[in-house]
Amino acid sequence: MATETKVRAAQAKTPERALALVRNSSMSIFSNTDFDAHEAVHAFCDAASGLKGFIALHSTALGPGFGGCRMWAYETEDAALRDALRLSRGMSYKNALAGLDYGGGKAVIIADPRLDKTEALFEAFGDVVENLNGRYVTAEDVGIKVEDMQIVGRRTEHVSGIEKDGRMAGGDPSPKTALGVFQGLRAAVAFKLGREDLTGLRVAVQGVGNVGYNLCKLLHGAGAKLVVADVYEPNLERARSEFGAEVASPDAILFADAEVLAPCALGGALSEETIPDIKATVIAGAANNQLARELDGERLKDRGILYAPDYVVNSGGIITVASEYEGGRPESEIVARVERVYDRALAIFERARSENRPTSVIANDMAREIIAAAKVR
Ligand code: NAD
Repeated sequence: MATETKVRAAQAKTPERALALVRNSSMSIFSNTDFDAHEAVHAFCDAASGLKGFIALHSTALGPGFGGCRMWAYETEDAALRDALRLSRGMSYKNALAGLDYGGGKAVIIADPRLDKTEALFEAFGDVVENLNGRYVTAEDVGIKVEDMQIVGRRTEHVSGIEKDGRMAGGDPSPKTALGVFQGLRAAVAFKLGREDLTGLRVAVQGVGNVGYNLCKLLHGAGAKLVVADVYEPNLERARSEFGAEVASPDAILFADAEVLAPCALGGALSEETIPDIKATVIAGAANNQLARELDGERLKDRGILYAPDYVVNSGGIITVASEYEGGRPESEIVARVERVYDRALAIFERARSENRPTSVIANDMAREIIAAAKVR
């Protein structure tokens, strides 16, 4: 049923047709394993444009839920809901630990970004966001481009990542994301390997796209030796020619002979299957959801691998986007904010050591503590 639905939805020529093909499964909200005490879950629909999806608000204790909008041809409503819940909680934790005055929220639109985009659909989504009166601020995520958000912005002010009041959007946030990852990586190397100087340190980078490339630039500048892998040859060639990077196959990069592993491609790289063969003793990268399962944090700890939690070190992008939403800040101030990732990561490593628990669990705890403290203010 699921595969058949997907194929037919992909072949549908109109949003209405595609959405009609996405059928409910055994969807639950409060008993959903990803629910985690969300403040609100909004299901939205605009029959005329075919808009359909969810906005999950995990917490607004620190401020409006801030997180992007994803457009994806989900096979079931349940899959879309789970994605919204998981991603909005992730934004809550990321924003809390980044020291931002924002909570966590995320929107998912159930539609195929290649087939179903219309102005009417994005205007209707803008109305949905506007009706939340600023409790949720949206931005681009997978499947959504700046021009789509520009249409959303016709209907609501609560949108980031677009041109506003004649000012251009801040542009690609990935250099700042890379700067934060670099700081988290430095902190992890100092903590685990006892060295401040990165000269000669071997770092394996999985994925040299927007963030991976910028991370390589910083690491190369600091004297590190790079081993890289990518499935897209031009990106690989750029890293090889600009940084003299050694190339590994995508299958081998996680297990490369290196002190540090930086996953900068897709999520789920660290799993029951891969963790036993990882040679690096430090992991710090940009990819979201690097742990395939929560338990994998424990597996890394058991192997003596120091893991810099992904959402702690990859917060440079949201720090930049939030500054832009607030009307902009001097570059030096944004850089200083992003560089604080070093101290935050160190605090997590120290607490993980003193409590003998995985860094991933400590990061979740610390984020929850910040959110709980904001609730009682
Ligand atoms: P990107 O698409 O520019 O780069 C990803 C790179 O990984 C691409 O070059 C792709 O070819 C490569 N890749 C894909 N599968 C691979 C595989 N199996 N092995 C090796 N390489 C593979 O994306 P990005 O913006 O650099 O983001 C990278 C990761 O960081 C994503 O998980 C993203 O969610 C996360 N992230 C990005 C930002 C940001 O500011 N861009 C912020 C926070 C988190």
